Amino acid sequence: MKQSKLFTKTEKKFPKDEVSFNAQLLIKAGFIDKLTGGIYSFLPLGLRVLKKIENIVRQEMNAIGGQEILMPALHPKNIWEKTGRWNTLDVLYKTKDLGGREFAFGPTHEEVVVPLVQKHIHSYKDIPFYTYQIQDKFRMELRAKSGLMRGREFIMKDLYSFHMDEKDLDKYYEKVKEAYFKVFQRMGLGEITILTFASGGSFSKYSHEFQTLSEAGEDTIYVCKKCRVAINKEIKNETPKCPECGGENFEEKKSIEVGNIFKLKDKFSKPFDLKVINEAGEMALIIMGCYGIGITRLVGTIAEIYHDDKGIIWPEAVAPFKVHLLSLGQDEEAEKLYDQLLKEKIEVLYDDRDISAGEKFADADLIGIPYRVVISKKSLASGGVELKKRNSEKSEILSAEKLLEKMK
Ligand code: ATP
Ligand code: MG
Repeated sequence: MKQSKLFTKTEKKFPKDEVSFNAQLLIKAGFIDKLTGGIYSFLPLGLRVLKKIENIVRQEMNAIGGQEILMPALHPKNIWEKTGRWNTLDVLYKTKDLGGREFAFGPTHEEVVVPLVQKHIHSYKDIPFYTYQIQDKFRMELRAKSGLMRGREFIMKDLYSFHMDEKDLDKYYEKVKEAYFKVFQRMGLGEITILTFASGGSFSKYSHEFQTLSEAGEDTIYVCKKCRVAINKEIKNETPKCPECGGENFEEKKSIEVGNIFKLKDKFSKPFDLKVINEAGEMALIIMGCYGIGITRLVGTIAEIYHDDKGIIWPEAVAPFKVHLLSLGQDEEAEKLYDQLLKEKIEVLYDDRDISAGEKFADADLIGIPYRVVISKKSLASGGVELKKRNSEKSEILSAEKLLEKMK
């Protein structure tokens, strides 16, 4: 894409009406726009990052048998009454239409997925199966002060699994755990994302959260010094020892909950009477699990973790483009290289704007694309183009052919 055609612009200064660092940085760099507290638009650059994250999650969910669907965001009141959550869920946004019919803006989708599944599943032979979506959620978050990390409207991946018994649920739960680690690893968060024991509610002893270490996090966890799993602060009193290894020494850390997994058992199959015929020919309640990942929260998390004082440093797997090509008064050569990069299907943002070199360099650092390629009089005189990685101080001169080879 040519940067001269990009309708969105970077800002010289951080926005004044935003308190969270991730949103300040992403607004300044032209990735997102703030509509109001906790509600953001994704601009062309930001949407590319979002889609990369979505696709990593999608691939890993498909790899564990997840079937993708898309459920509605607007929910009739009756399904929320059925589980009792119309009145008890404090984050529920509610609305009424002109005919007086009441609706909720979906904060999660158990109430939709269970009756949906009920229409299609009748026998133990249909079980187990797994279905997920990547979709907009709405929650009345009172403190929406963490930018993309706590939206009033945000995107979540929610996976639901359906089993005949708890043993089968346990087996799949472990599989999802592994898939989640792959997801976070692929985004460059593997090393700093910690499996954390959290309260399981009334249905199982623990649930698990995936907590990414960051000073910007809203959560506090206690990381076991022996085995590197953690316990969430909220259960720490009940769980003085590490549930994994029995260790008793912990380190207190701030963290961001990027995902969680939960054994629901029959919490939602019961109110909807989600039953199938089992092998003995009797009607049996289905056992469920649910598994979330905060897709938009991940965009904010990565910005919080990967930046320096000049701007963002995107991990390659989620970067909006692979190459940022800067022409310093050498448009003919640059245009040629741009076409070659496109031909090789290398994602490239080409800064063809009629502005100073200093402005181009500053924007390249701010936007944070992994490979910066400069074509200038100087680079051409020394035999080609200048290549510099965003996270490195060193640069090298190489021929256009070598560069193409390297970027493939
Ligand atoms: P939190 O404790 O942070 O409010 P939660 O326990 O309410 O999270 P879930 O309802 O299980 O979270 O949602 C699954 C995932 O969706 C979370 O792990 C998180 O990554 C993400 N998420 C939850 N609430 C928000 C929000 N308001 N904005 C952005 N992402 C969110
Ligand atoms: Mg919440």
